Amino acid sequence: MSDDVKKRPTQQDAEQAVRTLIEWAGDDPTREGLLETPKRVAKAYRELFAGYEADPREYLQRTFEEVGGYDELVVLRDIRVVSFCEHHMLPFLGTAHVGYLPSDRVVGISKLARVVNGFARRLQIQEKLTAEIAEAIQDILQPKGVGVVIVSEHSCMTMRGVNTPGSRLTTSRLLGVVRDDPRTRQEFLELVRSPDR
Ligand SMILES: [Zn+2]
Repeated sequence: MSDDVKKRPTQQDAEQAVRTLIEWAGDDPTREGLLETPKRVAKAYRELFAGYEADPREYLQRTFEEVGGYDELVVLRDIRVVSFCEHHMLPFLGTAHVGYLPSDRVVGISKLARVVNGFARRLQIQEKLTAEIAEAIQDILQPKGVGVVIVSEHSCMTMRGVNTPGSRLTTSRLLGVVRDDPRTRQEFLELVRSPDR
């Protein structure tokens, strides 16, 4: 590794940063209830930002070519999204719906959820997250089209700032026939729509 590569801070550095934040907020990091907090926060962040540890595109490499002539949309709905807005480092939580029209290969359905998870567990903006998921599927699986819709609630808006609980942001990225063919597009959008949204 070259010397230019910035050395990643250690777990201890991260814990110290949390201690600083606790003090800055006005509390005492040495009182009993807070003693273990920096360690717990670092551990939680390690899990919540696990997306940096792997390339989500890898999950799509293993495909199945025996599709038995299946040539309709494949749609996985209601994938839980846990991500962090990169502007405030506050969570945004919601659901993703991912669909594609296979050309000759399909991927295990759990892989679609893993791709969502892999890109979500980073500092993100929802618009970029939506596009990254769609483009990874398009690039690697090369289906006839891809659609990704994410609906989520941003805590940077719902618990601070303009303080509007319940407002949700919807983003979508449609590629190929899911974007260009009106019937496929409509079918996809109907499949991801449910009575409550
Ligand atoms: Zn934010």
